[in-house]
Amino acid sequence: MFRVSDLTVAIKKNQQVMLRGVNFEILPGETLILKGKNGSGKSTLLGAIMGDPRYEILEGEIEFLGQEIQNLSTEGRSLLGMFLSFQTPPEVNGVSTTEIVRTGLMERGEKVRLDEVRNGLMANQKLLGLPMFFMERECGVGMSGGEKKKNEILQMLALKPKFCMLDELDSGLDMESAGKISQILADYKKETGASFLITSHNLRILEKLKVDKVVELVGGGLKVMDERGAMNGGGTK
Ligand code: ADP
Ligand code: MG
Repeated sequence: MFRVSDLTVAIKKNQQVMLRGVNFEILPGETLILKGKNGSGKSTLLGAIMGDPRYEILEGEIEFLGQEIQNLSTEGRSLLGMFLSFQTPPEVNGVSTTEIVRTGLMERGEKVRLDEVRNGLMANQKLLGLPMFFMERECGVGMSGGEKKKNEILQMLALKPKFCMLDELDSGLDMESAGKISQILADYKKETGASFLITSHNLRILEKLKVDKVVELVGGGLKVMDERGAMNGGGTK
């Protein structure tokens, strides 16, 4: 479903190599947890996978659904069914979440009326514990850390990606919200068969999700951890 082979990535502006020869694979419906200390390159890896122009792929391949994607634009990757929820979600001035979601759906060739988009978002907002007209607000603008994270999940649920990358989703979320989102992600996975790549410091967000693999970034390379053992208090935070 998704594979990274020998990936070497540098930060474009200073050509500093952050990741060296990274390899991993995620099968359909699998959840992979990416660990690593602050600054170990987790966000860099997710950004490079999504085509963030701040990063440059020096070597290696990224494959999604049998296709090499490292030369596609971020939008092209999104259209194929990839999604990245940012560690620090951006603020989009003057554009509501509803409009962003509608544009995303139309780009996928789905003809959706504005009220249909709104109804879908409203139902999911309720699940996330967000206020009724939240999706009409400027996307990200003036939102608290936790609201920004929920807003990312709101967009994910509407766009229905097959491969969801969630970067430090639980930072800024209270325990109750993290538990709620864990259940929402588990339900989404059951409904769609989607795969997940998650970086997280908090196990609450993983509570309801079955974790298939755990890997850790150390010194720019990936170390495979013992599968579920590491997550069940194996002493490898
Ligand atoms: P993590 O997500 O694991 O905490 P990051 O991928 O955010 O780590 O960062 C890895 C290293 O790369 C850090 O030293 C960070 O300062 C640096 N870095 C990441 N992105 C940029 C950028 N756009 N410009 C300069 N340095 C960057
Ligand atoms: Mg990070």
